[in-house]
Amino acid sequence: MKKVIFAVFSIITLATILIFFIIAQKNTAIKPDFSIVTTNFISYDLARTIAGDTAEIKMLISPGSDAHSFAPTPGDIIAIKNANLFIYTGGESDEWVENLLKNNEIDQNKIFRLMDNVELKTEGLTTETTEISETEYDEHVWTSIKNTIKITDNLKAKLISLNPKDAKTYKQNAATYVEKLQNIDTQITDIIGSAKRRELIFADRFPFRYFTDEYNLDYAAAFPGCSEQTEASSQTIAQLIDKVKQDNIPAILKIELTSDNLAKTIADATDTKILTLNAGHNISAEDFANGITYLDLLTANLETLKEALN
Ligand SMILES: [Zn+2]
Repeated sequence: MKKVIFAVFSIITLATILIFFIIAQKNTAIKPDFSIVTTNFISYDLARTIAGDTAEIKMLISPGSDAHSFAPTPGDIIAIKNANLFIYTGGESDEWVENLLKNNEIDQNKIFRLMDNVELKTEGLTTETTEISETEYDEHVWTSIKNTIKITDNLKAKLISLNPKDAKTYKQNAATYVEKLQNIDTQITDIIGSAKRRELIFADRFPFRYFTDEYNLDYAAAFPGCSEQTEASSQTIAQLIDKVKQDNIPAILKIELTSDNLAKTIADATDTKILTLNAGHNISAEDFANGITYLDLLTANLETLKEALN
């Protein structure tokens, strides 16, 4: 009897030790030693796409929330300080980062600012430039595919400089991504090339300055850039309604995660439909959980463009 008990005990002990080792090995295998913290969804998606499994990546802005009104918690600031790389846009929405940098709270060598990588454009509607008192650069640099390609290449170089042991992965992932972006760019060019019109009407904020300039599209919008204003003036609403009627616009646009009240007002008055052109500031919690990528958003935008331009 004693022998049986001993044998059972030994088996249990051995099994426990074995399971412990398997778990321990698994944990060391999946836990990367390089960490990246990002502000909004586009920065997060770029980090995830290029770094893949080589880094632990944290997005500070909660899925579904407005990327323009984010304020960091003390815990967020600790996360930034502890990260090997911090990626942010660098515009109006990220002014708090500039304060941290001024006070030397973040290591300059560990930051990657999207706006540093491309030629900047001023914010606002081309027709409303007189209303802008100071030069404010538009932070939505990534809405141009060519800019996203430049940013991808520079982020790859930054990652290689900070973590050279994974250079091969970064190069492969960046090359694959650039190819996919070029494919989207070709599709957009084809859609615009064969479209009936070259004009987009936004009953919303306007983060697409870099996009419309790149493809030489005309546009009208309720607000310049991502203005904090949420109520359009009756004059603006009347002008947009007139424009939709005059140019026989088939669909008016809104952006992601904003109210569609204004779009509904204009759509009702003009008998047009409302479509979403996604700028990728952020995605819903559900889409985030489902692993939706910026490339998925761009692919959905192709369909929106086809309808809105024909
Ligand atoms: Zn914005």
